[in-house]
Amino acid sequence: MQNRDGFSAHEIFTTSKGYTYNDFIILPGYIDFAPDDVILETNITRNIRLKSPLVSSPMDTVTETDMAIALALWGGIGIVHYNNTIEQQADIVSKVKRYENGFINKPLVLSPQNRISDIDMIKAIYNFSGIPITEDGKLNSKLVGIVSNRDIDFEKDRTKLLSEVMTKDILTAKKGITLSEANEILKASKKGKLPIVDEEGRLISLLCRNDLLKNREFPLATKDDKKQLRVGAAISTKDESKDRLAALNDAGVDVVIIDSAQGNSVYQIKMIKYIKKKYPHIDIIGGNVVTTDQCENLIKAGVDALRIGMGPGSICTTQTTMAVGRPQATAVFRSAEYSRKHNIPIIADGGISNIGHISKALALGASTAMMGSMFAGTNEAPGEYFYENGLRLKKYRGMASMEAMEAGGAKRYFAEDAKIIVPQGVSGAVMDKGSMHDYVPYLLQGLKYSFQDIGVRDINSLHEKLYSQDLRFEIRSAMAQKEGHVHDMYSYKEPQFM
Ligand code: IMP
Repeated sequence: MQNRDGFSAHEIFTTSKGYTYNDFIILPGYIDFAPDDVILETNITRNIRLKSPLVSSPMDTVTETDMAIALALWGGIGIVHYNNTIEQQADIVSKVKRYENGFINKPLVLSPQNRISDIDMIKAIYNFSGIPITEDGKLNSKLVGIVSNRDIDFEKDRTKLLSEVMTKDILTAKKGITLSEANEILKASKKGKLPIVDEEGRLISLLCRNDLLKNREFPLATKDDKKQLRVGAAISTKDESKDRLAALNDAGVDVVIIDSAQGNSVYQIKMIKYIKKKYPHIDIIGGNVVTTDQCENLIKAGVDALRIGMGPGSICTTQTTMAVGRPQATAVFRSAEYSRKHNIPIIADGGISNIGHISKALALGASTAMMGSMFAGTNEAPGEYFYENGLRLKKYRGMASMEAMEAGGAKRYFAEDAKIIVPQGVSGAVMDKGSMHDYVPYLLQGLKYSFQDIGVRDINSLHEKLYSQDLRFEIRSAMAQKEGHVHDMYSYKEPQFM
């Protein structure tokens, strides 16, 4: 076509230069729809569909239970790290799978042999009342009563057994009830707590009146056929992973990532074949890779998706130390262009630090974007906040940082048994981002605006436009990059998120 502005991705990304997300810009298209008409549905693997193209990285400062639940509720998926024991990782997976929005799945429970003073202690620590009583004081045991404030308020003898004061006539609901049905029962009953029991009357979970107003519906949630949230987990290419896989499979994992910094290896290929044979129902994400040759090998071995990135991560020193890797925009485009011929979706992993980078990754053919640093500062990431220079921060570290490797993370780098360890990552801190429940909707809305500017309503159309060469790009000079950010201001306040 003549007189067209800009260049196709193919023209730009098949030259002798490697480019990053900041090196280029997407030229605007034609708008004939509203941002809310944009649909961000996509595939993370051949078989797993997501309503949002966001994936959290399998790092020990990013993805455990809370992160995986929050991201799945917003239509993405979390990949649980493996810098832990097999039991711990499988436990996280099974907690995500068993999660039911609004229901408290691990309520504090006491037995009839506990005393009122035990409830006083719980109240002092957790500031709540309304404790279900089961035969042996544990969850999944027969519900025999409930003790609320009004049962014990005026009781002077705090050593009294709960069996003497508990209310035995309890309103319950059966397992399987939907959240809105349960909410209706709670509202009508004027009670504070609604225990959920199974056919044998065993306590399964609890619903609280106080939580009613806080409950949100999550129409985007990533769920399997049984309506359970989906979750992924990372494993290594080591033999230990076979036991890990067995436990993860029992816990109900939906997808595994073979987590390797350089995925094009005989070890990974063997592992892919092993999983495909033994657990054909589990999708496999192979990687990390950055060249078409590498993609070819793993696709031949049987992966269901590929994870792209070697060296772009915010905490990464691989390209400097190992002299190997690839600038991420080029890696994403080249890998996606190749993998698409085999119907293998790719995940753009690392180097994403704002909404524009996610959009650019998708515009270069990625189906999803994987983030570490962007999610590490949220409430749902593992670890506690701390203060430094008056700022509220959370720890974030590379899995190949000295610190993480000492804690067991070296499997990713074939460095587990090495006598001298050369780290390929750093450990540090990121800013507080608040809750994923505020941050992810913000990211999704930003992406919709970006798609509107590009003139596409969904990821499929974006990819079609990319490969038909109708999507146009330009390389930005250093000055253009400067111009593209805030400049010439005496002072200004950065937005909280970008
Ligand atoms: P970020 O989103 O830019 O922070 O990058 C996260 C990605 O960096 C992860 O998903 C991994 O692919 C990669 N990564 C994690 N730990 C390390 C490390 O220690 N060195 C190099 N890359 C790492």
